[in-house]
Amino acid sequence: MCAARPLINEYTLSCIRALKPGSKAVFTQPPLPFKCPGAPQKIVYLTADHLKRNGLRPGVELRYFVHAPVIFGVPFFARELVKVAANHGVDVNFQHNLVAIDAKAKTATFEIVGGQGEKIDVACSMSRRRKARPTRSRRARSSTPPEVNQNSMQHVRYPNVFGLGDACSTPNSKTAAAVRKQAPVVVRNILRAMKGEAADAGCDGYASTPARFSNGRPNCARRDC
Ligand SMILES: Cc1cc2nc3c(=O)[nH]c(=O)nc-3n(C[C@H](O)[C@H](O)[C@H](O)COP(=O)(O)OP(=O)(O)OC[C@H]3O[C@@H](n4cnc5c(N)ncnc54)[C@H](O)[C@@H]3O)c2cc1C
Repeated sequence: MCAARPLINEYTLSCIRALKPGSKAVFTQPPLPFKCPGAPQKIVYLTADHLKRNGLRPGVELRYFVHAPVIFGVPFFARELVKVAANHGVDVNFQHNLVAIDAKAKTATFEIVGGQGEKIDVACSMSRRRKARPTRSRRARSSTPPEVNQNSMQHVRYPNVFGLGDACSTPNSKTAAAVRKQAPVVVRNILRAMKGEAADAGCDGYASTPARFSNGRPNCARRDC
């Protein structure tokens, strides 16, 4: 598990710093599963904040393309996040799924989710250096996630095996916050299994994701953006 994941990696940071009046930055939120449901939005707001701090907003176009019909899965938070995006001047587009990037032509192609296969090309100045690829190894991609009971974290077929974290089959959002709740349950149930006792059902699907709307000074992992 990551102890302190930097908010912005070096390459993304260099792309953000390269934005200037007239630039078009395109951000996407793919369909689940992906790590941390808040992560795709955080980078949009941090970029908007960086531009504002450096007097470059609103000269830069910020567009956010979301696969889902809503900005966030929990309606209570979605209502507020729509306002945050509007306050940052972000153009939010729902039901758009990124299907291709042409780095030379600087276009991103999106398929309309729920449509008849219609696609649109969107101009972008900022794109990833290389084609996006799965982060899991070939071996990991070819195997299914360990199937564990979502409450006890015990493997459904092998009682002396337990799992936790992003890689296992539990339906919770994949966040470190979820792992924090799962870890003590796994420890307790391993100890119980060693004594021949049945596993406890200690996990309730908890997950959470902090949302950052600006690059605040006091608790910011990267102060140089
Ligand atoms: C941009 C971003 C922002 C996030 N922000 C938050 C947040 O604010 N709050 C929050 O709670 N969660 C957040 N998350 C999610 C959080 O990072 C993950 O849920 C958490 O790291 C999961 O921990 P894990 O140990 O299960 O997996 P990981 O942290 O992914 O650890 C798995 C490790 O296994 C290694 N590995 C993979 N395959 C092999 C192999 N074959 N052999 C050996 N090693 C291997 C990997 O290199 C990695 O080090 C964020 C994720 C991202 C991507």
